[in-house]
Amino acid sequence: MASLNSLEPLLSLAKRKGFVFQSSEIYGGLNGCWDFGPLGVELLRNIKDAWWKAMTYRADIVGIDASILMHPRTWEASGHVQQFSDPMIDNKTSKARHRADNLIEDFAARMRAKGKTDVAQQIDTRMAAVATNADLYDIIMDFAIPDPVSGTTDWTEVRNFNLMFSTHVGPVADDKSVVYLRPETAQGIFVNMKNVMESARLKPPFGIAQIGKSFRNEINTKNFLFRTREFEQMEMQFFIPPGTEGEWFEYWRQERWAWFTSLGINSEHLRRKPHERLAHYAAAAEDIEYLFPFGWGEVEGVHSRTDFDLMRHQEFSGKKLEYVDTATKERYVPYVIETAVGATRTFMAVLCDAYTEEEIDGGDGTTETRTVLRLKPSLAPVTAAILPLVNKDGMPEAAQQLRADLQRHFRVDYDTSGAIGRRYRRQDEVGTPFCITIDGQTTSDNTVTIRHRDSMQQERVNVADVAAVIGARLLQP
Ligand code: ATP
Repeated sequence: MASLNSLEPLLSLAKRKGFVFQSSEIYGGLNGCWDFGPLGVELLRNIKDAWWKAMTYRADIVGIDASILMHPRTWEASGHVQQFSDPMIDNKTSKARHRADNLIEDFAARMRAKGKTDVAQQIDTRMAAVATNADLYDIIMDFAIPDPVSGTTDWTEVRNFNLMFSTHVGPVADDKSVVYLRPETAQGIFVNMKNVMESARLKPPFGIAQIGKSFRNEINTKNFLFRTREFEQMEMQFFIPPGTEGEWFEYWRQERWAWFTSLGINSEHLRRKPHERLAHYAAAAEDIEYLFPFGWGEVEGVHSRTDFDLMRHQEFSGKKLEYVDTATKERYVPYVIETAVGATRTFMAVLCDAYTEEEIDGGDGTTETRTVLRLKPSLAPVTAAILPLVNKDGMPEAAQQLRADLQRHFRVDYDTSGAIGRRYRRQDEVGTPFCITIDGQTTSDNTVTIRHRDSMQQERVNVADVAAVIGARLLQP
C-alpha cells in the first residue's frame, strides 16, 4: 500500500473528482485562492461539523459567528496593525518576492537533502538566534543563498510586510474609513466575551467557539491549501480564572491531539512542537503538526495567552472586560487558553492521510492499481452509493426506492453506468464507504449487498436494515 510522497496525485484527483478547483480558473486563476467543488464542500462541512460537535456539544462552550469586518481599533489593540507582518526580501534580477525566513529554511532543507548536514545545522543554529530582519539578511548573504528563480544573490534588504488586507467602508476612501478583512477569527471572540458571558449566564471556566473565513496577504502561497490568502479557521478561546492556566493548557493540548486522531488521522503522521520562543505575553504554546508530502507543517496551535488580549481590548475600548462574582465580589480579567486550527489545512491533512494506492487482484490473473480515499466514514462526502447490477428486471425500481429511503439520512450517489467493478473503483476514489448493490436476488428476497470500501468485503443484508447498519457504522468512533 502506498501513500502520498508528492502533492501531484492529490491535486489531480481533487480537480478531476470535484473536491477543489483553482479560484476563477477560466481567467487563469487567482494565486492563493481555491474553490471547493461538490465533493470538497461536503468533506469540509463534515470536518467543520466534527469540530463544532467536539467543541460545543458540552456544557461549558458556546458558539458565535462574528462579522469579518470589525472596528479598526480591534486590530490596533490586538497588535496586528503594528506587528502582523512577515519578513520580505526581493530579488533585484527576477523581481521575485520571498518570505526571508522561508527562503532560508527551504535552502537548509535542500542542503540536508544533498547530505550537507553541517551547512544545514549551521543555518539552524543561526536561525534560532534571529532577532531582527538584519539577522535574516546576514544569513542569506553569508550562505550565499540564491533566488530559486534567477539563481542570483542580488537581494534587497529584508523589510516587514503587513499581512492584513485592507479596504474602505462607505463611499469615501480615506484614512478614516479603513477596515481590515480579519486575519484571524479570535478577535471576534475576545470583543464579544462580555456579551456572551452575560447573555449565556456563563462563568469561567467557559469557552467560545467560532468557525469562519480569515484572510492574510501571504507573501508566498504554496503547497495547495496549506498556505492560502483566504482560508477558514476554527478557533476556541477558553476563559479561565488566573492561576489555572497550567492545568487547562494541559487539558486542551490532550483534547486537541485526540481530535485529530478521532478524524482517522494516523498518529504517526502527527507530532507536537512546543514553541521555542514564546511571545512576551504567552505562558505556553504548542503546535500540532502533520506530516504532509512536503514535510511537517502546523495544523493547529494551542496557546496559553494569559490576560493579554482582554487587557488590551479593555485599554483600547475603555470598557471593563472582567468577570465579577456577585456572591463573593471577586473580580478578575479572565486568562485565556486558545485552540486555533485551520479548517482548510485540516481538510488537506485529512485528504493526504486518506489517499492510498494499492495493488489488487484484477480478477484474470493480472493486478490493477486501486486508488482509494480511506476517509473516516462520517467524513466521507458521499456515504453510500446505490448500484443496480443491471438496468432491468425490477432492479432500477428497487434501487430508486432504496435511494429515496436512504437519502433521508445520508448523502447518496446512484450509478448505473459501466461494469460493477468500475463503479466500485469510482466510489473508492472519492472515499464512499458503502456501496450497495441491487442484484437478481433483491427482487426475490429483499436483500442487497453492502460492499465495504477498505476491506472490499461484502455482506448481505435485508433492505429494511440498510439504514440502521450504515447508521451504526457512522457512529463508530
Ligand atoms: P503559519 O506559521 O503556518 O503561518 P500561524 O502560526 O500564523 O501559521 P495561526 O495564526 O496560529 O497560524 O493560525 C491558526 C491556524 O490557522 C494555523 O495552524 C493554520 O491551520 C491556519 N492558517 C494560518 N494561516 C493560514 C494560511 N495562510 N492558509 C491556510 N491556513 C492557515
